[in-house]
Amino acid sequence: MERVIDIQHLSKTFGNNQVLKDINFSVNKGEVVCVIGSSGSGKSTLLRCINLLEKPSGGAIIYNEENILKDEHDIYKYRTRLGMVFQQFNLFNNHDVLSNCTIGQRKVLGRSQQEAEKVAMKYLEVVGMAQYIHAKPKQLSGGQKQRVAIARALSMEPDVMLFDEPTSALDPEMVGEVLKVMKQLAQSGLTMMVVTHEMGFAKEVADRVVFMDKGVIAEEGNPEQIFNHPTQERTKQFLKRIL
Ligand code: ADP
Ligand code: MG
Repeated sequence: MERVIDIQHLSKTFGNNQVLKDINFSVNKGEVVCVIGSSGSGKSTLLRCINLLEKPSGGAIIYNEENILKDEHDIYKYRTRLGMVFQQFNLFNNHDVLSNCTIGQRKVLGRSQQEAEKVAMKYLEVVGMAQYIHAKPKQLSGGQKQRVAIARALSMEPDVMLFDEPTSALDPEMVGEVLKVMKQLAQSGLTMMVVTHEMGFAKEVADRVVFMDKGVIAEEGNPEQIFNHPTQERTKQFLKRIL
């Protein structure tokens, strides 16, 4: 199996607080990895370390057989290969939907306006937002904004998409439309790493589930193993609390 990202002994410390401890795992091409765990267990920090929004304190991130944490590595280029979807959408509020999906392509990938629009339209179709290209974010519902944010990230044609609780800020009635799009992407073979509290989604869509507790990976396995036959006491306790 082709590895897209391989995380080795990753650690992250904020002041005296060690938030990630000796994290080891990899994401294979076409795989959907769901990361679950209590609030404060380090899930967001892990995603933010992977895309270098935070600087890891130690360990290695192997991408294309190179450790991208080594000094000489082209971090800028690496980051363009990862798509990120945030809980709070992070759209450019003064730009319309189409422009949100073309800016990065033009500025970072150097695509022409015409090419960028073509690619953006393709992904806006995928998320069902093609009829809203001239709308500004404030005219959209939360679910629509998140679908635009997903299209924007896809427009960069990343090797892996990272989602940090993409439905946690949504009104309950809008969660379904976003999960539906994500499920469709998963089935299309996109490589995805998804931090989520949506256990139904993780059960149904994940190839692998990673359970984090207090900065470590306490247990990982396929959904059947994690949800129906967890071996670790803390996994059992967590599932009992949330299910
Ligand atoms: P999760 O996403 O699982 O809820 P986080 O990764 O957000 O957890 O946070 C893990 C821990 O790291 C928490 O104790 C949090 O307070 C701490 N933390 C996260 N970001 C920072 C930061 N920028 N500075 C200091 N502490 C942080
Ligand atoms: Mg978080």
